[in-house]
Amino acid sequence: MTVPTVPPGAVPSVAIENSDARYGVHRIYCVGRNYAEHAREMGGDPRSEPPFFFMKPADALIESGHPVPYPARTADFQYEVELVVALGSGGRRIAAEEADRHVFGYAVGIDFTRRDLQAAAKGTGRPWDVAKGFDASAGIGAIRPVAAGPPAAGASIWLKHNGALRQSAHLSDLTWTVQEIVAELSTYFSLAAGDLIYTGTPAGVGPLVPGDTVEAGVDGLAPITFTVGAAL
Ligand code: MN
Repeated sequence: MTVPTVPPGAVPSVAIENSDARYGVHRIYCVGRNYAEHAREMGGDPRSEPPFFFMKPADALIESGHPVPYPARTADFQYEVELVVALGSGGRRIAAEEADRHVFGYAVGIDFTRRDLQAAAKGTGRPWDVAKGFDASAGIGAIRPVAAGPPAAGASIWLKHNGALRQSAHLSDLTWTVQEIVAELSTYFSLAAGDLIYTGTPAGVGPLVPGDTVEAGVDGLAPITFTVGAAL
């Protein structure tokens, strides 16, 4: 058996808008229910409890324009458009008031989900990894540095499935703000440069089949497009 070695620069990375440089990814954190309407459609009550988190492997990233393979072991593969925060620095127990100075930029992402496996995990109290952390489960577009202008507080966030608008909300609808999310997450983990945070999805999630197209965006950020490939 050979020793697994790490070539220089061989970490997952994401395009940076208007730059040849790429953003090296450390970890991918995701927030559960974070829009009131989606929390209600999933049977929850917003802000009744603090935000909760799960993770995807850094190499689950798939950049806009690449075909997303339809994953194995599911009959209910779904999209969730999300605002993604890209940290430029980190720390522990970051105060919400200090969170913005750790944000390098923002991107549009899709938290691809095996909804049937997630429902089964919820029912049995098992982990979400197979439902959320599978190959190519973290769709993402180019990161727009904050220095180039962050999305407006009331920016719209949307997703079209085969051209039909399915998700439409505003960042002001976030149950927990980006700053509150960074603060809470940093009480559990040492946050670091290269950490991406998927901030949760609004209402309107739905299933995909091979051949489908999803387009998604947040006002002020590069829109993203994915086609769903053949089943793995
Ligand atoms: Mn999500």
